Amino acid sequence: MSEENHKFETRAIRGQMERTPYQEHSTPMFLTSSFVFENAELMADTFAGTADGIIYSRYSNPNTDELIRKVCAMEGAEDGFATASGMAAVFAGMAAFLRAGDHVLASRALFGSTHQILGNLFSRWGITHTYADPADIGQWEQHIRPNTRMMVLETPSNPGLALADLEAAGRLAEQYGLILNVDNCFATPYLQQPAQYGAGLIVHSGTKWMDGQGRVLGGLIVGRAELIEEVRFFCRHTGPALSPFNAWLLSKSLETLALRMERHCANALQMAGFLEQHPAVARVSYPFLPTHPQYELARRQMKLGGGIVAFELKGGAEAGKRFLDALKVCSLTSNLGDSRTIATHPASTTHSKLTDVERLTAGITPGLVRLSLGLEHIDDILQDVDQALRA
Ligand SMILES: *Cc1c(COP(=O)(O)O)cnc(C)c1O
Repeated sequence: MSEENHKFETRAIRGQMERTPYQEHSTPMFLTSSFVFENAELMADTFAGTADGIIYSRYSNPNTDELIRKVCAMEGAEDGFATASGMAAVFAGMAAFLRAGDHVLASRALFGSTHQILGNLFSRWGITHTYADPADIGQWEQHIRPNTRMMVLETPSNPGLALADLEAAGRLAEQYGLILNVDNCFATPYLQQPAQYGAGLIVHSGTKWMDGQGRVLGGLIVGRAELIEEVRFFCRHTGPALSPFNAWLLSKSLETLALRMERHCANALQMAGFLEQHPAVARVSYPFLPTHPQYELARRQMKLGGGIVAFELKGGAEAGKRFLDALKVCSLTSNLGDSRTIATHPASTTHSKLTDVERLTAGITPGLVRLSLGLEHIDDILQDVDQALRA
């Protein structure tokens, strides 16, 4: 059976680079900034792109190449580039294409720093944007202008867990010749593959579920080969490359992504059901709860509901703070997608730089708590959350 036909888990494990002459079983780490050439002509040809070869780790490295090949196989994408953080991937995935005068049609529910790029950096460079409701792609067409070049969305969104219909978004992008750029961080390729629906660019924070253990920062941009050519040019000359050490770790982490996501999602579904019944909780958001307004869509485009549960306490922001302070097992930290369960208060942390109106329209109410379910035994997490809700 050819590698192409291998299943997701097998690709994540067996998609490693060719062995060196030492015949190592596990991928070695290539901590070298540059690579040596046999002769001047081969070096010139490699620089010219007429010979294959690795030149310098800002452009590529065996470890980043392996990571990218694996993620492309998992996402069903043609090519990619690995970056030092998720935000470097988000930024490069947009900046490589946009120029002064261009317009971006973006989901209103985006990661806090993505909002900052659109609102406070691109605005300096003459790139405009319009925010639209991710839950209503049908309304997006009316916002498309002659200078619209890209559609940017995140599904499910951080932290409100709003979904965008990828099939509808893909159709619209194709009809108007726009680049569809999807932040697939919350779902991971195990739960959904936006390339299937026509996304030209898929970006990831490798920091989250991909590493899964809270150790390294990393980012990925994968997608259609001709788009990745532009991304590669942009990144080669601006330098956001991922370190080989982090690439090695992330590639190893992918070997267990499927297993981990199964457990994260099972824990999250159980937690969501528990919170929904809890008298101190006003509202729970989880894509695979039938009460999620986009439950049908979630079932259609996601394999499982993901590892994040968002909920609103009846007591608002004050109760939210008391809850976080009373937790004994869950960590109070800003990361997510870790083996350890994490609780955060988005309004005062990740999304604190937004205006009140921007926050509310992005679904971030003052009492919203985001839980990233870890891999601990669910009984221990439920007990911790229950005692903190009673506090
Ligand atoms: C965390 C996150 C990012 C940014 O990733 P970093 O690795 O922290 O730079 C981008 N998008 C989403 C949805 C995220 O959760």
